This record gives sequence, structure tokens and C-alpha cells, in this order.
Amino acid sequence: MIDRRSLLAGAAGAIPLAAAAAHAADAPRASGQPMLGNPNDLPEAKKVNWAVVGLGSFATGQVMPGFVMSHRSRMTAFVSGNPDKARDLGARYGVSKFYDYSNFDSIAHDKDIDAVYIVLPVGLHAEYTIRALKAGKHVLCEKPMASTPAECEAMIAAAKAANRQLGVAYRVHFEPSNVDVARRIKAGELGQLRYFTGDTGFNADPEHWVPHRWRLQKALAGGGSMFDIGIYAMNAAMMCMDDEPVEVSAVYSYPMNDPRFKEVEGGVNWRMKFRSGLYAQGSSSYCYAGGTRQKIYGDQAAIVMEPASDYYQQGVILMKSGQPPETLHAGNPIVQFGAQVDAFSQAALTNTPHRTPGEMGLRDIRLIQAMYQSADRDGVTVKV
Ligand code: NDP
Repeated sequence: MIDRRSLLAGAAGAIPLAAAAAHAADAPRASGQPMLGNPNDLPEAKKVNWAVVGLGSFATGQVMPGFVMSHRSRMTAFVSGNPDKARDLGARYGVSKFYDYSNFDSIAHDKDIDAVYIVLPVGLHAEYTIRALKAGKHVLCEKPMASTPAECEAMIAAAKAANRQLGVAYRVHFEPSNVDVARRIKAGELGQLRYFTGDTGFNADPEHWVPHRWRLQKALAGGGSMFDIGIYAMNAAMMCMDDEPVEVSAVYSYPMNDPRFKEVEGGVNWRMKFRSGLYAQGSSSYCYAGGTRQKIYGDQAAIVMEPASDYYQQGVILMKSGQPPETLHAGNPIVQFGAQVDAFSQAALTNTPHRTPGEMGLRDIRLIQAMYQSADRDGVTVKV
């Protein structure tokens, strides 16, 4: 029996149900969409094709994800002494061409490679850069450029002979905070520049972290902490001061009985005098923890960067006289890896010099060698 009350309740309940049904027909529904990608992306055919040489921790951890975030660069080949690793990474990144160190020169015949990224230990940079240039490819080589100024000069000569671009991968020149700090300095936000200081270090642990082993062998590393990490602050000093040094001095600064440092130095305290008469100074160390710190002083304000050259985060504080410190956010540092390869792709496409060319790499190796000459003689001033 249906009584009047339940009939009314049913009728009353029927209205919202009907409304809900009508609404459901118009409601947004989740559904798959075609692949759209990034609006800044070029069609595949217009991208520069890259081979990555040496699939170690930096190549796999930062370089390869950087290519994924790039817009005009794509990886087409891997060069490795470990074929299983290369194929695993190839499956992950859609790379299907593989070379090893013995058949590397045959990339000359590979039309799917325009540029080569050298991510090998430093002692191998010159050989593989020159082989790639002779194969007719543009080359971006990791920092530090090579073990000696003579190697750097041979790399530059090979690039000229091949009419190809040679860049050194100084990634902070493409990192938003570093670029922003350089821009602010140039715009006069600090007033007249007075002084730069920068420290870069980590505690090398060859027992537990394999890449630290070649870093302690001179033949593969070229030098010690100054080659590997001191070069960041030294290079940044010249970027920030927008000037070139005329003399340097340095002293070694690490426990001399530390068994890790039989072949390369464990730490350097350095100083550079610029043409302007101003100074920059800093330290590099394989013995202290704490990362990277830079401070740039002007006569109106200063900027503190800590971390200064991290992969994933920078801390930047602007300190103006008489005002509270201001934290600056210029962008996510992660974009530096894609931006760097895209900038080099542009250099390769137009055959024009990269922002950080081989000549900059040579300048820095010469300066570090001059610092070693000074440190070998307990800190005497060396003209450069
Ligand atoms: P790893 O030791 O992690 O990787 C080096 C790779 O080079 C190896 O995995 C191997 O690749 C290949 N290789 C070929 N011959 C040798 C050899 N005799 N000994 C060791 N490796 C060899 O080093 P990193 O990735 O840390 O450094 C590589 C380069 O990247 C260096 O030039 C370094 O200065 C630079 N770098 C730059 C950084 C930056 O921030 N710009 C940060 C870290 C490093 P495979 O097995 O595929 O043959």
C-alpha cells in the first residue's frame, strides 16, 4: 500500500534526482586528450640532436633530466663503456643509438648527431672533445675544460679547424638566481662594486662514493678541489665583477697528512686582483662540508648567495644599507640544465659562440695553474 505521505516523499525526492540526471549530462567529465607538449617546444625536426658521452652520476642525475626540460635539444645517442647501462638509459629516454669509446669516431657518419656533450672525467675531456670536433660535431664539454692550458688550446684549435662551436658547461651562467644577481650588479643595484668572496667545498669520500675516486687521481682529475669546485666561485667572481684578473695568489689549505691527497690538493685559499684594482678571494676544499657561499659587496648594498651554485635551490639575500634584508627569488634553479643545452643548441644552429666558450674554459685553467704556482711557493703573487 502506498500512503499519501510516502507518495509525497517520493514525489519530492524525484525532483532533485531528475535535476541531478540533467546536470550529469552537462557535467565536465575526465577524458584523455592528445599529446600537446610545451607551447615553446619546436617540432622534433627542428631540434638539435645530441650524443651524451659518459653516463655517470652527473650525466644521469642532471644532464639527462635537463634535456627532458629543454625545448630545442634532444638526446639521440649515448656513448658509454657500459652497454647494459646505456641500453637501460636508452629505454628510459627514448634513445636508440649507442657507441662506445673505441667506435666513437664513427659518429662522423651519423646524421642524427649534431652536438656532443662530454661528461667524462676531466683527464679525458681533451681527447674526446677533439675526436668529436674532428667528426664534425659541435661540442659542449663539462667544466673544468681540461687538465692543462695546452690541452685547452688544442681543443680550441680543433674547433676552429672544424668550424664548429666549442662551449664549456658553466651551468650557473644559465641559472636564474645567478643570472639575476649578475643583472642587478650590472644595473648598479649594489652601487660601486668593492669586493667578492666565495667558498665552495664538500668532504670527498672515495670509500663510499665512486666518483670521488677519479677526482683524487691527477691523471683523471687534472687537479684537486680548485679544478673541481673552486672553479665555480672563481668563475662567478669574474662574472659578477665583470673584469679580468691581472695577478693571483694562493696557499694550500688542508691537512697535509690526509691520505686522500697524495696526487691532488685537498684545499686552496685563493685571491685575484682585477684590472680595476679590486680583489676577489675565496676557498675550495675537499675537506669541509657546507656547500657553496658567495658574497658580493658594493658601496650601497651587498648580495649574499648561499647556496650559490646548487642544482635545486639557491638562497639569495639583498642587503641594502639601512633596510631589512630582502630575500630574492629569481626562479627554479632546475631550469639551468635545460637552458644550458638549449643555449648551446642555438649556438650550434647558428654557428655562433656559446655564452661560455672554450676561451673562457682556457682562461680559467690558466688562472688555476697560476694559483698552483703561487701555492707551490707559499703564496707569492703571480702575474697573469
Ligand atoms: P662520474 O664518475 O659519476 O661519471 C663519469 C663517467 O665517465 C663514468 O660513469 C663513465 O661512464 C665515464 N668514464 C669513462 N672512462 C672513465 C674512467 N677511466 N673513470 C671513470 N669514469 C669513466 O663523474 P661525474 O658525473 O661526477 O663527473 C663527470 C664530469 O662532469 C666531470 O667533468 C665533472 O667535472 C663534471 N661535473 C659537473 C658538474 C656541474 O655541476 N657542472 C657536477 C658534477 C660533475 P660510462 O660508464 O657510461 O662509460
